[in-house]
Amino acid sequence: MQAKQYVEQIQQYLEEKDPNQSEFLQAVEEFLPTIVPFLDEHPEYIEHNILGIIVEPERMIQFRVPWQDDKGNWQVNRGYRVQFNSAIGPYKGGLRFHPSVNMSILKFLGFEQIFKNSLTGLPIGGGKGGSDFDPKGKSDPEIMRFCQSFMTELSKHIGPNLDVPAGDIGVGGREIGYLFGQYKRLREYDAGVLTGKPLGFNGSLGRTEATGYGAVYFVKHLLEDKGDSFQDKKVLVSGSGNVAIYAIEKVQELGGTAVTCSDSNGYVYDKDGIDLDLLKDIKEVRRERLTEYVKERSNAEYFEGSVWDLETAADIALPCATQNEIDKAKAERLAANGVKVVAEGANMPSTMDAVKVYHENGVLYGPGKAANAGGVAVSALEMSQNSQRLSWTKEEVDGKLDDIMKNIYETCRDTAAKYSEKDNYAAGANIAGFAKVADAMIAQGLV
Ligand code: GLU
Repeated sequence: MQAKQYVEQIQQYLEEKDPNQSEFLQAVEEFLPTIVPFLDEHPEYIEHNILGIIVEPERMIQFRVPWQDDKGNWQVNRGYRVQFNSAIGPYKGGLRFHPSVNMSILKFLGFEQIFKNSLTGLPIGGGKGGSDFDPKGKSDPEIMRFCQSFMTELSKHIGPNLDVPAGDIGVGGREIGYLFGQYKRLREYDAGVLTGKPLGFNGSLGRTEATGYGAVYFVKHLLEDKGDSFQDKKVLVSGSGNVAIYAIEKVQELGGTAVTCSDSNGYVYDKDGIDLDLLKDIKEVRRERLTEYVKERSNAEYFEGSVWDLETAADIALPCATQNEIDKAKAERLAANGVKVVAEGANMPSTMDAVKVYHENGVLYGPGKAANAGGVAVSALEMSQNSQRLSWTKEEVDGKLDDIMKNIYETCRDTAAKYSEKDNYAAGANIAGFAKVADAMIAQGLV
């Protein structure tokens, strides 16, 4: 069978089987066409029906999470873990706590994670989990009770050689601490069961910064390759979680000016460059909304709505908030405003139409599975340190992260040039990420 026909058949099958899983269908639809040129050269993957197998998670777990709020009322949420692919290592990927979480979102994230983790070059499979629990406005004890209940069930399904969750939206050091404590109470002290742990108990230096720094390193290597740098570049950033905060930090360190950040209500435009100390204080310490930022920084402006509706000339865009934040019109605006590089700190922040706009306008596009792989890469380094019962220095971890991001960029570039079109890093990322996993699956007897 022809590769093109084969991938269309898989897509059609999924659309019939899971018509309501729009985010998962989107992730698969972005992926499949880009690997056609590779499949044309390697019919053995078609003969093994690798795609038909790879789009089915190895295992999906869904459970109830009952917990008591501060008023004494009993609440319930849904908990999930999608164990998507273990061909090259234990399932690895974050937990997301957000009201939008459902099976479609977790399958899209888990699917992306397989290839992202493969691209890091480290031995980690793909998984993702979470809950529709909304941490916003909850007290610390409520978060703790929820995490304990969530882990009471999840603990039966994870382990350092089986499945190693970490953070994602709504899950940071505080939540990982509570989850770890409950795992310990139920099983044993096993540092390698979760990553993104606080530094005091087996966390890795540099993990908090890794996703944001990694995205900026990806762009740094891309720019260097084109004889350019971050110096004096104007950078638009969305989000104000740890990905956005540390992307902004690294941009400023490399001589660029990051002028925006956002939350789910609106965004800040600070033309002199985001004041990082203030942003960190508001988000990491006080856990407040971005409206606070402009109260304390008179030159900055706050607008409701999407940061991608801002009309301003810029050089680089780093979407670091959430899926589908940039649609066709917003991508057209970015291109019209002079943006030359888009690198995704978030997972799938650009719709398929937006990606088309980037390609049509010569905007260099670093897809999430490549550009934001630094987070999970340092999670894998945390696993190594836990196994060794050692802690590496911040410089050591950061140096490895920079090397990994350079390698990912070069792999995307070279694979795109070989099988697809020059500078189509999305195709490069998909093909390179896929090839390693597919070979391992075949070698293991397609299990
Ligand atoms: N949630 C992050 C991601 O999307 C990190 C996962 C991890 O560290 O395991 O890659």
